[in-house]
Order: sequence, then C-alpha cells, then structure tokens
Amino acid sequence: MPARTDTFDLGALGLSSGEGRRLDLGVGLGTFDLGGERYETEPALVPVKLDVSRLTGGGFSLRARFEAALAGPCMRCLGDAAPVVAVDAREVDQPGGGDELTSPYVEGEVLDVAAWARDAFALAMPAQVVCRADCAGLCPQCGANLNAEPDHAHEAAPDSRWAKLRELKFE
Ligand SMILES: [Zn+2]
Ligand SMILES: [Zn+2]
Repeated sequence: MPARTDTFDLGALGLSSGEGRRLDLGVGLGTFDLGGERYETEPALVPVKLDVSRLTGGGFSLRARFEAALAGPCMRCLGDAAPVVAVDAREVDQPGGGDELTSPYVEGEVLDVAAWARDAFALAMPAQVVCRADCAGLCPQCGANLNAEPDHAHEAAPDSRWAKLRELKFE
C-alpha cells in the first residue's frame, strides 16, 4: 500500500511533452454527513490509480480511478450499509487554456489529489445509501424491520365511515 498522499507534485515527474505516467497513490477521503448521519469511507487509505499525461501545449491531463465504500446506517432500515462506489474522474489543466481547461485541483504544478478524489467520490455517491438495492425498510406503522419479517402486516383499521353507516337505522 502506498503512503498517504494529499497533494502530488506533477512537475516533479519530469514528464516531457506528450509523455505519460501511471501512479498508485493512497488517498484518504474522510467522512460525509448525509441526512444527519455520519458516513465513513472505507478503506481509510484508498488505493487510487492516477494517470498523468503532459500535454503538448503545456499542462496536464489527469485521470483518477478508485473504488471505496460508504459505510453507515441504511437510509431505509437503519442497518449497516456499505455500498461500494466506483470513481473514474478526469481533469485537464492547461495554463492559459481558459476556464474549461483549468482544474480547480491544480495549483501551479501541484495536484490536490485528496480534494479531487473526495469531490469525485461525492459526485459518484448514490443519492440514497441502502444496505441492498431491494431493502424493504421499516414498517411505517410500528417500525418493525421488514427485511427480517417479510410477511409483517397489520389488521386493516376499520374505516370509520362504514361504522357510521352501520349505525344508521333503516325504517
Ligand atoms: Zn436496509
Ligand atoms: Zn408494523
């Protein structure tokens, strides 16, 4: 496992124009607060594959790939959930290339790989964190876990309008 890298000096690679390099980095993604709950990312040090290419006009083309789990309570049943999120993110940073070719994660020739990986992970995260895609959640009436009790049901409450009708006396 590579050592933890928060920022990476792209210039130090000494790449010549058009040359590329693949690097294996270890990046910490930190925690996320979602819906009032704290979610950890796992592993603590995520192996990130970073592809760096030196552009012919100067600057860099970057690609980061990694997988990490988002661990915390299932948003439906509150059990343990840890969906794995796959990230494949690209950035281009070309000095003088205008806004579209300027990466917010590159300062000079130093890449803030931790900030980039965290933002890319946040974009790839599911909107709802669930223990499994078909999690049945909790009974809205009593809070029973419907995964554990698939046949769980309540007696239908008698509809009061019908009760009133039965009270009517027909003459
Ligand atoms: Zn669940
Ligand atoms: Zn119930």
